[in-house]
Amino acid sequence: MTLADYRKYLNRFLLEYAELNHLHPEQSERKYYCINPSHNDIVPSMVYYAEDEPHFYCHGCNHYFDIVDVYKYVTKKFKPNDEINIKEALKEIANQLQKAGYNVKPFFDDKKIYAAAQDIYKYITRYPLKGPQKDFLKEKGIDPERARAEGVGMIHNYKNWMRFLYNLKQKYGEDLIADAKFDNKLIFNTDTIIYTYFDANHKPVAFAARRLEGDPKYVNTGTTSIFQKKKMGYGIHKVIGQRTVYLVEGYNDALAFWVRGYYNILAVASASVSFELLQLLKNNGTERVVFTLDPDEAGLRGALESIRKYIPKIQLYATVKILPAHKDPDEILRDEGINGFYKYKNLPAAAFILRMTGSIQQTLEFLITAPVKDLQATLEAISEEGTQMNLDLSPEKLKINLMQKYLTKEIEKLNKTIGEAQTRMKQITSFLEKLL
Ligand SMILES: [Zn+2]
Repeated sequence: MTLADYRKYLNRFLLEYAELNHLHPEQSERKYYCINPSHNDIVPSMVYYAEDEPHFYCHGCNHYFDIVDVYKYVTKKFKPNDEINIKEALKEIANQLQKAGYNVKPFFDDKKIYAAAQDIYKYITRYPLKGPQKDFLKEKGIDPERARAEGVGMIHNYKNWMRFLYNLKQKYGEDLIADAKFDNKLIFNTDTIIYTYFDANHKPVAFAARRLEGDPKYVNTGTTSIFQKKKMGYGIHKVIGQRTVYLVEGYNDALAFWVRGYYNILAVASASVSFELLQLLKNNGTERVVFTLDPDEAGLRGALESIRKYIPKIQLYATVKILPAHKDPDEILRDEGINGFYKYKNLPAAAFILRMTGSIQQTLEFLITAPVKDLQATLEAISEEGTQMNLDLSPEKLKINLMQKYLTKEIEKLNKTIGEAQTRMKQITSFLEKLL
């Protein structure tokens, strides 16, 4: 569960919490005095709504309030721009409700989740992989012992795991283990390969499994306050601070690189890459991302989506590794080695957009908003893509188009500014006229 989820959960107790803290409605109308300190509410105008997500709404100042706002009000921390520690606030709210006898489930202590994950990580990796698990990895060209050093493990004996799990529940609480889904039988069983997710500080935080039999093939443990799959990816501890980061799709793709000593590889464990993950990379010094998603429809669409939506916003330099159809990165490494992998074409993101959409407009639009490392090379790559699609796009022609597009955009911006200035002038003039 994330903080935002927990906040939502606690809002179910909004009315009870408000009453506990002496916020009482006016008898006749069921209306409350507004808790917005900058609204001088003379006649109560704040109403409680139970639908969807419970909240208060003030018909005087048009503000919505939830349980944290009530907390801020009753603890007198409600000033404009006043920062509070949401986590501490939620804990205090939950405590008060519990003490008053409400059955509120607790927000779990990060330290405990970290400790439980650390225990599980040690448990699953304490013996070498064997049997079908070992064969599966070898088949993929991944050395099992090296994989184990990267947190890949298995359950050797189910009875023994059940005993371990029982102790884990005793130690950290049944609710915590259940909430983090550290007891998921689809993951922790004798017919799975288990991968450990580490956070940026190299701490185990979550687990995923490749099930050797049955569907779904891949399952991961739950979202917790220390783990959100989309925001973290598999391998963030390897890539944090790397200038170039390759984004692959699967756990085994990433592993295949790691066990060969290449560490700037992150598995997104999904067909698309999230905004948060790209932002995290950028904030930690990454300059270039290479989308190396599986060369199937889902992988290509996912790459296109993420590139178009996020790359201009985040201002990362992006390229797309074009792999042969039906061959994932781990298979290429196994069959062709790292040099074979490097030989595949690295397409500038703009040329990839042209390839996927066929639209020159969209390609140019992307080019003037996203960072470009080598403009000439990029234009040549686009031109080459164009030739294959029977589009007449020489680099010179592209340059002229780009220039026009850029100028048009700048002129639009200027016109907007001029428009705003004119409006402002009119306001000032009319104000002055009134004064005179
Ligand atoms: Zn109000």
